[in-house]
Amino acid sequence: MITIGTEGSDKIEQLLKGIEDFTSAGERCFLCGKSLLSGDYTQEHIIPRWAQRRYNLWDQQIVLVNRTSIPYRNLTVPCCDECNKYRLKPIEDSISQTVDLGKRAVEALGQMTIFLWLGKLLYGLLYKELTLLLNRADPTAGTIITAELIERYRTHRFFLQQARKVVECVDFCPGSVYVFSMQKMPQPVLEWDFCDNIDTMFVGCRAGRTAFFASLGDGGAEQSMAPHFAGIADLHLHPIQFREICAMVCYRSTLQTRSPKYVTIENQPHKAHQLPLGGLWLKPYFEEWEMDIYAKYLAFYLGVGVEHLRLPSGEVKTWLYGGNWNPRFIDFATYPEIPRNIIG
Ligand SMILES: [Zn+2]
Repeated sequence: MITIGTEGSDKIEQLLKGIEDFTSAGERCFLCGKSLLSGDYTQEHIIPRWAQRRYNLWDQQIVLVNRTSIPYRNLTVPCCDECNKYRLKPIEDSISQTVDLGKRAVEALGQMTIFLWLGKLLYGLLYKELTLLLNRADPTAGTIITAELIERYRTHRFFLQQARKVVECVDFCPGSVYVFSMQKMPQPVLEWDFCDNIDTMFVGCRAGRTAFFASLGDGGAEQSMAPHFAGIADLHLHPIQFREICAMVCYRSTLQTRSPKYVTIENQPHKAHQLPLGGLWLKPYFEEWEMDIYAKYLAFYLGVGVEHLRLPSGEVKTWLYGGNWNPRFIDFATYPEIPRNIIG
């Protein structure tokens, strides 16, 4: 990211230094980077407390990159009171008050609020992962943190400073974000699901009557594919369809051919501008979609063998579309078991 400061001023450098310093990460606010040794702070739940309460998720486990699993209730990051109460809580409140109403109510919050909420979820996980990996006694064992991942992490954290009103994205959203409606589920615990891919900054999350999908670091490139979802935009999704869209958006996020570039001009707030994604390069934004590889993503997200998903025509099985590519409504009341009983 290129930053342009005014003469004699180093405010933007200070901001970047504060949020990029990863020494003693456990003693700094995960959002603003402030030292927490003296002030008031809390342990912020990465999977928000309201969702854990409402959907009964305290004992749900998440598997981290280092292959340890951790229950949601223990998945926390340090957060200063200022960020927690005044910066993040309004975003959480907006989301918690609308997800049970569905797509329209959530979309009315605006794309940036949705981006910040999903961005905070994914970033909280990434922060936790990086802290665990960096603190490990033997850093040579297991997962490697690539320079690319660190750079993406820094850029993403910079954009999350919008929650603190110290950064403003001028006329762009740093990621692609989609919202769908979910069907009503018979039990609260069925009304939540979460999938992510930290390497490509994909996140899929459903809560109540709303499903979210995002590729958070693509500069909106995937959103240019939005007409792709136009036919199914009003479908009330079955949980298996949520997983199918996760596979689509996540696989697409691995096909990006370029990283977005930004210029930030120091101001109050600092103004970030995105350079045109195309640039001078004629290559398409995405590598070609390969059905064989997509089938593997779908198999992963559905928890079934890939051999169940290939059709004789070479296509991959879909639950989103019926004959003539018409949107397909699958009633959870009729098909509650997923996914095996409706394969084939
Ligand atoms: Zn803070």
